[in-house]
Amino acid sequence: MYKAELVGVLGCPVAENPTGVMQEAAFQAVGLNWRYLTIEVQPENLADAIRGVRAFGMRGLNLTIPHKVAVIAHLDDLTPAARAIGAVNTVRREDGRLIGENTDGKGFLRGLRADAGRDPAGQRVVILGAGGAARAIATELALAGATELTVVNRTASRAEAMIADLAAATGLGARYVPWVGPYAVPPDADILVNATSIGLFPDTGAMPDVDLDSAPPHLLVADAVFNPPETRLLAAAKARGLAVLDGLSMLVYQGVIGFEYWTGQAAPEAVMKDALRRALSGE
Ligand code: NDP
Repeated sequence: MYKAELVGVLGCPVAENPTGVMQEAAFQAVGLNWRYLTIEVQPENLADAIRGVRAFGMRGLNLTIPHKVAVIAHLDDLTPAARAIGAVNTVRREDGRLIGENTDGKGFLRGLRADAGRDPAGQRVVILGAGGAARAIATELALAGATELTVVNRTASRAEAMIADLAAATGLGARYVPWVGPYAVPPDADILVNATSIGLFPDTGAMPDVDLDSAPPHLLVADAVFNPPETRLLAAAKARGLAVLDGLSMLVYQGVIGFEYWTGQAAPEAVMKDALRRALSGE
C-alpha cells in the first residue's frame, strides 16, 4: 500500500522547527507509512491551509508561532485543556472533525516525572513568564496538584489575565510578582521554570534576571527554552549543584504525546529523544 498518512506542523517561520525529525524517526522505527510535513503558512492563509488539511484527510497537526490561538476559529472542538489554556499546539482528526489539544504543559509534566523524577503534587512552583508556554505549564501543574504558584512577569496585565484564567480553569489562585530587578527565588520554592524566551538562540548569552543565592538545595530549575539545551540559566543552576530539566525534555514528551494521540500506538521515546538531540546538535 503506497498511500501515506499525513501529519505536520504549520508555522511562520517554521524552517528551524525540529519536530519533524523526531516524528519521522518514530514513524520509521515502528514501521508506519506516515509523513510529517513542515509547512510555512502565512497568517492570512491559515483558513485555506486548514481547508487543505481537511481536503487531504490529514490525521493531525502541530501549530506553532503565530497560529496557536488563531487556529481555534477553524477547528470543530477543543479538549478541556486547550480551552483552559486558550491555545492549541496539536490537532487530531476524529471522524472527520478537527479537535484542538494543547500538549505543551503535558509534555513538561511527563518530562518532570520521567527525566527529573519529580511528582508535581504538593510542589511550590515559580514560573517566569506569562505567555503560551507559561499558561500551558501552569494549567497542567495546577491540575496535577501543585499547591502554590507564583507568576513572575514583566508585563502585569498579561500575568493577571493568566492568573484569572488559571483560577477559572483549575481553582488554583496564583500570586503575581512584578519583575523589577533580580527576582530572588524564595527559600521554600520547589521548582523554578523559565517559560520566557530569554536565552533562546541566537540570544544564547541572555539569562533571566533571577538571584539563586537564596534558592534551597532541593530546587529543580527547568527551562522551556530548548535551543540551546543547556541555557545560561541551567548552567548557573548546575554550577550551584541544583537539579535541572532542559526544554528538550518538554519538546520530546509533547512529541511523544502527539505521536500517541495521532497513531494510537506507544511512541518509541528513546528514538525520538536521540533524533531530536542529534538534530539540535547539528549532526
Ligand atoms: P510568548 O511570546 O507567548 O511569551 C513570551 C514570554 O516571555 C512573556 O511572558 C514575555 O513577557 C517574556 N519575555 C520575553 N522576553 C523577555 C524579556 N527580555 N524580559 C522579560 N520577559 C520576557 O512565548 P511562548 O510562551 O510561546 O514561548 C516561550 C518560550 O518557551 C520560547 O522560548 C519557546 O521556544 C519555548 N517553548 C518551548 C516548548 C518546548 O517544548 N520546550 C514549547 C513551547 C514553547 P511579557 O509578557 O512581559 O512580554
